[in-house]
Amino acid sequence: MLRIYEEAKCPKGIVHDYKVSRKLPDALIEVCVLCSKKVVYNKGKDGRIDNTKYARAHQRDTAQPFHGSAELFEKLYGHAEVIKLYKEMRGKKSKQQIAREWEETRRSITRQARRSKLY
Ligand SMILES: [Zn+2]
Repeated sequence: MLRIYEEAKCPKGIVHDYKVSRKLPDALIEVCVLCSKKVVYNKGKDGRIDNTKYARAHQRDTAQPFHGSAELFEKLYGHAEVIKLYKEMRGKKSKQQIAREWEETRRSITRQARRSKLY
């Protein structure tokens, strides 16, 4: 069973669903659309935010429909969504390919965080 990080736990939706609220030269501010919790990611000397902290708080974005996070994925998006995903992928892609796509999604979220120094 996947561990849900304390930083990710949301009182209204299992894990927080953060959306960017403000992009400042020295910080990135996000607010959870479910419970309104606000998080400030301060940028370091290099203009980057702490990726580990960011990734831990964004388990909603990084949950995959396979392996360790499959249970969380189903809780978050519902069984219907999992079935839909399987149907879409059936015959077209292997589990590995789908898993790779999710990994790419996860990476792009992290890249986005790193790039936030541009704003
Ligand atoms: Zn929340």
